[in-house]
Amino acid sequence: MEDRKKAQDVFNDTNFIFSQKTTFEKAFPEIENISVTVNEKGKGPYRDSGTSHYGKTSIGEYINCKNPKCYNGGFNIGDAIRDLVLKKEPESEGTSYCQGYEGSPKGRKRYDDCENYFTYKVKIEYRKEETESDTAEK
Ligand SMILES: [Zn+2]
Repeated sequence: MEDRKKAQDVFNDTNFIFSQKTTFEKAFPEIENISVTVNEKGKGPYRDSGTSHYGKTSIGEYINCKNPKCYNGGFNIGDAIRDLVLKKEPESEGTSYCQGYEGSPKGRKRYDDCENYFTYKVKIEYRKEETESDTAEK
């Protein structure tokens, strides 16, 4: 079976905020810890479907779709994370459809939209700010 490029692979070929080119640490210095849980459903996730967990070192701009026939599959989790960080909120959840489509291995032929969708939950632990430390806490 030939591999289709997934959303993160296609993304890695381009230039954006955080991918393998920029570490999570650099993109979000205010985050101490992050936990992302993703549940994938649809007609084509096959045996790999179900719940996946991602942490600081495994999360990327995109969560890839597991439908083996899907090209450029996945959804953007980076936006959800940036949105949370902007509001300084600790968690959120949402649903997103796969942006990919079922096609030939290199994506030149398009047969059908991928019908997989994702339910995700993001939890963020922020770094404690190093201000207001006049009172010595030990
Ligand atoms: Zn897909």
